[in-house]
Amino acid sequence: MNPSTKQVAVLGSTGSIGTSGLEVIEASNGRLQAIALSAHSQFDRLLAQAIHHRPRWVVATDQEAAERFDWSLLPGQTKLLVGPEALVEVASQAEVDIVLAAIVGSAGLASTWAAIEHKKTIALANKETLVAAGRLVTQLAQEHQVAILPVDSEHSAIFQALQAGSQSEVERIILTASGGPFREFSPQQLKQVTVAEALEHPVWDMGPKITVDSATMMNKALEIIEARWLFDIEAERISVAIHPQSVVHSMVEFVDGSVVAQMSPPDMRLPIQYALYYPERVPGVANRQDWSRGFSLEFQPAEVERFPALKLGYECARAGGSSGAVLNAANEAAVGAFLAGELHFTEIVPACRGVLDTHSFISDPTLDQLLELDQWAREEVSRWVCA
Ligand code: NAD
Ligand code: MG
Repeated sequence: MNPSTKQVAVLGSTGSIGTSGLEVIEASNGRLQAIALSAHSQFDRLLAQAIHHRPRWVVATDQEAAERFDWSLLPGQTKLLVGPEALVEVASQAEVDIVLAAIVGSAGLASTWAAIEHKKTIALANKETLVAAGRLVTQLAQEHQVAILPVDSEHSAIFQALQAGSQSEVERIILTASGGPFREFSPQQLKQVTVAEALEHPVWDMGPKITVDSATMMNKALEIIEARWLFDIEAERISVAIHPQSVVHSMVEFVDGSVVAQMSPPDMRLPIQYALYYPERVPGVANRQDWSRGFSLEFQPAEVERFPALKLGYECARAGGSSGAVLNAANEAAVGAFLAGELHFTEIVPACRGVLDTHSFISDPTLDQLLELDQWAREEVSRWVCA
């Protein structure tokens, strides 16, 4: 094995980000190696990935399903671990250099936390970790001198643009948003949105939860909170611009009025690659802009009145404390209920608002308190669904 090879634990390897991450690893000529893979379901896909990448560990987090699955084709050198605690075990292994945190939802929090405690570099796709526990996670990373490198395309763009100046020279950051598939819909049309329609994103091919989040604009709300913690910037200095082409991934405006943007065709392999190789840039597999053809870029202000989810994002970014964990969990539960046909599309954001407004706010919560509130918020949403 090449000693300079980075050993990557790909947690959530069967998902959209995990699969793109493995493509980046595959194209690395041995500079990156998948030392661990994990999935909650779709074990046939996990097994195929293990046969191809020959990791040291695979983790199957759904214990019951894992026990029913036939693992006999697993390579001899690969050890199977089962259950959610195994994610923590793998993320803490001495041989792991970097964790690609690509699990969806707050289910990704414990392994990222453990990886930080064990001084692993984090390539963070799982924004819910920062939404739910941004202050605690960034404090922990500072304590252990661990870099949290954003994979979310907007935050990767901001991270790159920030290198053009110092923190005190930053005026604001501008998150771009494609606006989702229902940007032009009337309130009446929104009421009729089906699960199939919500799962069709015009630009990005992503997992179901983030695709629905993009359609409700909750994804941008979560990204406001993510940016607040990742870049230690107040909510007032975060703007959102609708940019349907998704070529400018976000921007930083400096005090002199210069706006520095990062551009590339929409392809998550680029921000994943940037995080996995950081601080180096290498030629990669991501699609490139074709400069022999003309193209146009549009920007519109995102009106908070039109997108009530954005208002929730700003409120939670401002309030901090326990609000992010409650919003995040309520949204996860509401999206789950929508996908199960139990909640209308237009009820997702009001359900989150209702749960957020009834929770007993804690200004300086512990991790255990956040985890309890996460559970509470999910139960509140199920009451909302049954009501
Ligand atoms: P996905 O649904 O395609 O994949 C999720 C992965 O997590 C799968 O491997 C799945 O098996 C695993 N998983 C699901 N539930 C789990 C549980 N309870 N415990 C352990 N593992 C579980 O999702 P995705 O689109 O790849 O998104 C992953 C994360 O990256 C999300 O936090 C999302 O917000 C973020 N992200 C995704 C994109 C994108 O383009 N897909 C872009 C930016 C950020
Ligand atoms: Mg994003």
